[in-house]
Amino acid sequence: MKILKRISILLMVFVLMLNVSVSPQDETDAKPFGIVIHGGAGNMKKGEMAPEKEKAYQEKLKEILTTGYNILKNGGTSLDAVETVIRMMEDSPLFNAGKGAVFTAEGTNELDASIMEGKTLNAGAVAGVKRVKNPISLARMVMEHSPHVMMAGDGAETFAKKMGMTLVSKEYFFTKSRWERLQRIKKEMKKKKQKEKNKKFGTVGAVALDKQGNLAGGTSTGGMTYKRYGRIGDSPIIGAGTYANNRTCAVSATGWGEYFIRSVVAYDISALMEYKGLSVKEAAHMAIKKVGDLKATGGVIAIDSSGNIAMPFNTSGMFRAYKINDGKLVIKIYKDESEANKK
Ligand code: ASP
Repeated sequence: MKILKRISILLMVFVLMLNVSVSPQDETDAKPFGIVIHGGAGNMKKGEMAPEKEKAYQEKLKEILTTGYNILKNGGTSLDAVETVIRMMEDSPLFNAGKGAVFTAEGTNELDASIMEGKTLNAGAVAGVKRVKNPISLARMVMEHSPHVMMAGDGAETFAKKMGMTLVSKEYFFTKSRWERLQRIKKEMKKKKQKEKNKKFGTVGAVALDKQGNLAGGTSTGGMTYKRYGRIGDSPIIGAGTYANNRTCAVSATGWGEYFIRSVVAYDISALMEYKGLSVKEAAHMAIKKVGDLKATGGVIAIDSSGNIAMPFNTSGMFRAYKINDGKLVIKIYKDESEANKK
């Protein structure tokens, strides 16, 4: 009897050892992970964009998405993936963030960005900065190296310098196409005495889930062309333009900022999931419907802690791309090709 007991104990220890040595690897490999990015929503009908321009967007989105995906695939954090891909979009003149940001009515560039970590609910944001090459990185510094969540204007730039960030000249952000757009809008405003409208949005954003099960989200923008008086949109506002919570999802928004602030869009999606038990798709679609009911336009990207995603928008297009687990890399621009848009 004694011998039998000993053998069974030995067997149990052996089985336990086997489990310990095998399972962590297996579990990590099986963990869902993925990334979704957007480059802004707006009026972009199929066939209207020059084919070379369309190709340039597609190639850039592919390059950026692949970089972010590889960070996650190699075990990197969702926060690193989000910051890296947003930096790349800020550096590309194709998008309304960093270089290529739209102009204010005064002909300047004022940049907003925010980032949030789903595990800790830590967040950082900057608003109205004029000389920071990569506002998303400054937002992360605010989160990690200050007791604050949001810094604005000159103060944010002083902090950037203190953190050893290189500031660029204001001319760095200039692009001819955005400048011409400002001139067009100025003319239109004079002629028709129009109310401020925003037909075409920019803004970039990313949401990611890493193999450790942590979510992160971030957004960066030049805001809206012809903005005035230090106007700040939804992008740097935690809960409006960006939100991340491991219990629910990570969200990044693009669209008419004033309405996204009033609708608290990003947090609304998380709250609908947390308190009402909606799926990420249902919650994101509901939030965009609510924005639409206010007669505003835009879209969001969202990912939940199991790797399910949503990318609803109520404009004719939204630059977007995603890759989840070992799935296909998908890039989309127009509405009609959006499967994820159907509930
Ligand atoms: N949401 C941004 C803002 O209002 C603009 C955009 O998404 O294009 O500043």
